[in-house]
Amino acid sequence: MEYNAMVWFRKGLRIHDNPALDLACRRSKHLFPVFVLDPRYLDPDPSAFSPGSTRSGLNRIRFLLESLSDLDSSLRKLGSRLLVLRGDPVRVVSQILMDWNIGTLCFEFDTEPYSQVRDNQVKDFASKCGIQVFSPISHTLFSPADIIKKNGGKPPLTYQAFVKLAGQPPPPLTEAYTCLPPVGDLRGCELLDIPQIDELGYGDISQEEFSPIRGGESEALKRLEESLKNKEWVAKFEKPKGDPSAFLKPATTLLSPYLKFGCLSSRYFYQCIQNVYKNVGKHTFPPVSLVGQLLWREFFYTVAFGTPNFDQMKGNKICKQIPWNDNEGLLIAWREGQTGYPWIDAIMIQLKKWGWMHHLARHSVACFLTRGDLFIHWEKGRDVFERQLIDSDWAINNGNWLWLSCSSFFYQYHRIYSPTTFGKKYDPDGKFIRHFLPVLKDMPKEYIYEPWSAPLSVQEKAKCIIGRDYPIPVVDHGIASKDCKRRVGEAYALNLPSDSLETEEKLSGLRRKFQEDNKDIATYTSSKQRKRKDK
Ligand code: FAD
Repeated sequence: MEYNAMVWFRKGLRIHDNPALDLACRRSKHLFPVFVLDPRYLDPDPSAFSPGSTRSGLNRIRFLLESLSDLDSSLRKLGSRLLVLRGDPVRVVSQILMDWNIGTLCFEFDTEPYSQVRDNQVKDFASKCGIQVFSPISHTLFSPADIIKKNGGKPPLTYQAFVKLAGQPPPPLTEAYTCLPPVGDLRGCELLDIPQIDELGYGDISQEEFSPIRGGESEALKRLEESLKNKEWVAKFEKPKGDPSAFLKPATTLLSPYLKFGCLSSRYFYQCIQNVYKNVGKHTFPPVSLVGQLLWREFFYTVAFGTPNFDQMKGNKICKQIPWNDNEGLLIAWREGQTGYPWIDAIMIQLKKWGWMHHLARHSVACFLTRGDLFIHWEKGRDVFERQLIDSDWAINNGNWLWLSCSSFFYQYHRIYSPTTFGKKYDPDGKFIRHFLPVLKDMPKEYIYEPWSAPLSVQEKAKCIIGRDYPIPVVDHGIASKDCKRRVGEAYALNLPSDSLETEEKLSGLRRKFQEDNKDIATYTSSKQRKRKDK
């Protein structure tokens, strides 16, 4: 066959179990493996709240660049290379399809709204030019569209219903390449080297402290092997058990960033876990098992794909309409790890520095921001996570924010995580806090979760005066959490539809009422805080 085929990498940054790569190889004499650096995710945004682009913090950008380098080096070992270009992906891909006389274009199916629009434009262009397009499903175990079809056109809205419909996923491809078709004539097209982060226009980043989590398929496979080596651990894996404060050796696999970028195939991961199960006999089951975690991922992908406006409250049929507060000061305090609650702040600093936190740590801070304490819109917290997480994933992030804010899936709004006692159960000495908040490193363990309650002499000895070196709490949890419960209860009682004009008005009315109610509470809280400060 004289065909030129192109495999367009976006996610799916791997060689193993890569059906798009496989299809492209089978159909070509020459193979063009392409990655387009998309300004949407990479161009610096000096107005953003932390270094990075509008949508992505530097840790995730760096993870991507490392993953590209690793992919390029694997391709080179197989006689090929990664062809890197930069610009609007639709324009760039359309141009090179023509320039390189491509007969077949292959790329992994992507369910995100931005990707759907992008990919449909490229597909339209290709089909007008008579180019064959293959877009196999390989980012997820199942096809979200198939599951929705099986469910009569609607996504299943409970995990149990999803699992019943899903059945067994297809096995991963086992193709082990010894070489790939050579790259064809590039017709003078100017290619880029994979840039270093400073070459993307980020100026002086020498002061940045980067995440210890490194990108790439090789790293992913190493981490997978390491995680599954302890068969008993895999067999007994049970979430939500596990220590959210463990950071030197996290309590879960830490494979999410690799799944996000497709450095690791979820089907391969699934199969490896099944192989462990075969060897050990007795093991845990979904939803709590390790396989169960992968099914949570599938569940959110399916609901997200089948729900219009999944990533917002307005117009989202599965989202409770709640008159969240708009309070920039509190949002910034939360985002910057300055709430005065060490457990919350340490987690937010871990997010900033590492771009990853344990699931229950995410629970704690998401609950605190929304229905637990600050009553701020889940979309605001979602945006902070979306930007700073290395594993930031459109379907999973939105799905979990909907869940944690009691906006969808989970409605037990009376169950609130305590910002002081929850972390203490796992880490009574506060090692996690001391690591991520060094300002509190010498605070005695009795006060590490509530440093404002330490006598001044203790604060002085610990070289940390509350209100000067570390903030006094931005809210009184006892009062704020009661207030939040009452507000969510009132919003639930109204049961407002997501798509009516009246909803907006009623939400504004309820918001005004809450503000009135809150005046007294705010006065009470600040006088209490003043007293604490004076102590
Ligand atoms: P493990 O426990 O080892 O699980 C293995 C894999 O299963 C994970 O890598 C992940 O792909 C999947 N998984 C585990 N838990 C969940 C879950 N609750 N929902 C969906 N898939 C799951 N996860 C992301 O990958 N990206 C996000 O943007 C994201 N945002 C979140 C936001 C909030 C508010 C919360 C509460 C959770 C969020 N999660 C997100 C889910 C979960 O916290 C992470 O997937 C998990 O902590 C990653 O660590 P791990 O790889 O060690 O997980």
